[in-house]
Amino acid sequence: MDIRTGQGYDVHAMAEGLRMWLCGVEVKDSPVGFVAHSDGDVAIHALCDALLGALALGDIGHHFPDTDDKWKGVDSKILLREVTAMVRERGYEISNVDVTIALQAPKIGYLIQDMRQSLASVMGIEVSRVSVKATTTEKLGFVGRKEGCEVWASALVFSNLG
Ligand code: MG
Repeated sequence: MDIRTGQGYDVHAMAEGLRMWLCGVEVKDSPVGFVAHSDGDVAIHALCDALLGALALGDIGHHFPDTDDKWKGVDSKILLREVTAMVRERGYEISNVDVTIALQAPKIGYLIQDMRQSLASVMGIEVSRVSVKATTTEKLGFVGRKEGCEVWASALVFSNLG
């Protein structure tokens, strides 16, 4: 069995008047959203990079460049679906993923189960294999000043081939 691990990291700035998406779930009560070429789902972007990293397939910017109008305003679930397909095309299955979201406000704890379900359904794996965690930064740094959101993700993939 070939077992591989990958990690991903992403940051997006926040601004008023934009919609906020995290792990494919809209944070509907948020007065701010993420500044981005896509829908700004910073959590899915970090997760995509973790999956791509596990198989040394480059990063999300390489596969879905923000200079390409094709990806303007794109639903990031589409990107995750494509990345999952790349993993499976190479003979690998996703064992588990773990996502940590650093956000000062709004509070998103009540959405964690929806986020786990959303990611599990896009990747086609059991929800028990998907972890999503949220933390503040105790008002420190750019996250603490509510200027942006920072996300770390890790992924483990395996193959029974070769
Ligand atoms: Mg991004």
